[in-house]
Amino acid sequence: MIRAIYFSDRAKHRDTALPGSLWFSEPADGGVSAMWFYCPCGCGDLARITVGQEHKPHMTGPSWNWNGRTDAPTLSPSVHQLNCGWHGWLRSGYWESC
Ligand SMILES: [Zn+2]
Repeated sequence: MIRAIYFSDRAKHRDTALPGSLWFSEPADGGVSAMWFYCPCGCGDLARITVGQEHKPHMTGPSWNWNGRTDAPTLSPSVHQLNCGWHGWLRSGYWESC
């Protein structure tokens, strides 16, 4: 398990590039945000996924249901990184590989 450290400052997130760390964009219409995160595996990949606050957005591409918390974020369903093959869950602020 690896802690999903939350950054409120986008530049600091990019500078630190800590594996598993997160930054959320300001929510747009319908409480939809982008979650940017460094792959928990340590490969250095910076990924962006679309998340909805307490709902899974209706859209054509993939999206995730986010519990809306930055201190203990949970996403559903699981996250699969295509570049490196990492697959796991973000639950209560921790990444768990599966
Ligand atoms: Zn990776």
